[in-house]
Amino acid sequence: QAKRFGGDRVEPFRPAFRTAGSDKMQLESDLRRAIERGEISLAYQPIVRADDLSIAGFEALLRWNHPRRGEVQPAEFITLAERSELIVDLGNHALELAMRRLMDWDVLLPDADLFLSVNVSSQQVMGRDFANTLSNMQARFAHRKHTLRLEITETVLMQNPEHNAHVLEKVKSLGIGLAMDDFGTGYSSLAYLSKFPFDTIKLDQSLVRNQWAQRDILLQSVISMADNLGLSTVVEGVETEDDLVKLRKMGCRYIQGFIAGVPVNGSVATDMVAAQNPLVKDDAAAE
Ligand code: C2E
Ligand code: MG
Ligand code: MG
Ligand code: MG
Repeated sequence: QAKRFGGDRVEPFRPAFRTAGSDKMQLESDLRRAIERGEISLAYQPIVRADDLSIAGFEALLRWNHPRRGEVQPAEFITLAERSELIVDLGNHALELAMRRLMDWDVLLPDADLFLSVNVSSQQVMGRDFANTLSNMQARFAHRKHTLRLEITETVLMQNPEHNAHVLEKVKSLGIGLAMDDFGTGYSSLAYLSKFPFDTIKLDQSLVRNQWAQRDILLQSVISMADNLGLSTVVEGVETEDDLVKLRKMGCRYIQGFIAGVPVNGSVATDMVAAQNPLVKDDAAAE
């Protein structure tokens, strides 16, 4: 069923790509030029309400359409970019593309109420003037109806917690949401929640994939904890009906995963929301 949303977007790993040093350098210099050449785009994966699978928002995922190698997945080039300053340019480019999309949605989807979640690297947050960069972008790509959300992985924000907390407070005051990504994979998740102003946590797909007999207890505990803290929860990587049913019973509100939709291009994403919008209106009228 996920296929009908454009299954071509999720591709198997290409081992030939995990390559020797010189090839990596080539890739890095290619990446530097990719932004200017317009080879970088965003794919949009729906984040849906667990109860009826209606679309609440999307996660924006970087895609690189390499002239010779074809579509390069983020696993290949994000780590590479994070080893240098390149990630800041790449990350800012992703933010600009996302804000443009939000502007388009103001016009194309005036009746919907969506969020668009963009991954940001900690190097962006820790770099100079991140909040300023964002507010300048907001001025250039003004959008009013739908909201931007940032996804930040629990990696190295703790290296300079006071500074980073200050930056994130400023970001929040711009009306931008903050989600803690890959929750449950690091060792300081709980400390992060008390230090930084996150409003959403995204449970990493490894927690769903966990074969441990106590997995359900673990998931239930995290969902309840987030609920008690007033945080919104998105469970990532939900692939089976079985897990979906279980997560609903646990009180999970939002899910993201192949069962609800794979990453698709921007116009398909827009169409998906447009197609569900009459239904949303009918529901409202019935109440
Ligand atoms: P992430 O933020 O945890 O994004 C979720 C990843 O899981 C995506 O892979 C998505 O396609 C995949 N996924 C979603 N649902 C399922 C499912 O049901 N099953 C399985 N097996 N996988 C699922 P993708 O697009 O390859 O992105 C990988 C990572 O690259 C992202 O992980 C994120 O950390 C990073 N990334 C993507 N775009 C950006 C960006 O603009 N900036 C930065 N800094 N990182 C990015
Ligand atoms: Mg993410
Ligand atoms: Mg994640
Ligand atoms: Mg992840």
